[in-house]
Amino acid sequence: MTTHYKEIKQCSVCGAENEYTCIGSTGTFGPQDLDTRPPERKRSTIFAWVQRCPDCGYCAVDVSETCCQESREIVSSREYQERLNDPTYPELANSFLCKAIIDLKSKALAAATLALMRAAWVCDDCHLDLGMSTEN
Ligand SMILES: [Zn+2]
Repeated sequence: MTTHYKEIKQCSVCGAENEYTCIGSTGTFGPQDLDTRPPERKRSTIFAWVQRCPDCGYCAVDVSETCCQESREIVSSREYQERLNDPTYPELANSFLCKAIIDLKSKALAAATLALMRAAWVCDDCHLDLGMSTEN
């Protein structure tokens, strides 16, 4: 059984305090997918793998932790805010994509890759075609 709990966290970018759902414990049944996506029940906890500050839009594994010195500048940038509010993608996918923007700018390439892959999983769950088909 997966357990959740609520926690108040202070955003490290804007200082706003908000409540976030965190995962207390979960489990898995079966093997992961070839793209490393975990099996259920852990798979269904993806909504809690990235937190989005509702005040400034900072997206991180833990909004109370600063990823880099430039995080405030990155979050307020036009590129970031457009991605954050892009109606083409599900909100959760945008959160992962915004996290990837921060990770890329802070040279955390492995973290950025993981965030991009997780955004793709969210889009896949929503049956979104991202125009990346290899069939022509
Ligand atoms: Zn914030």
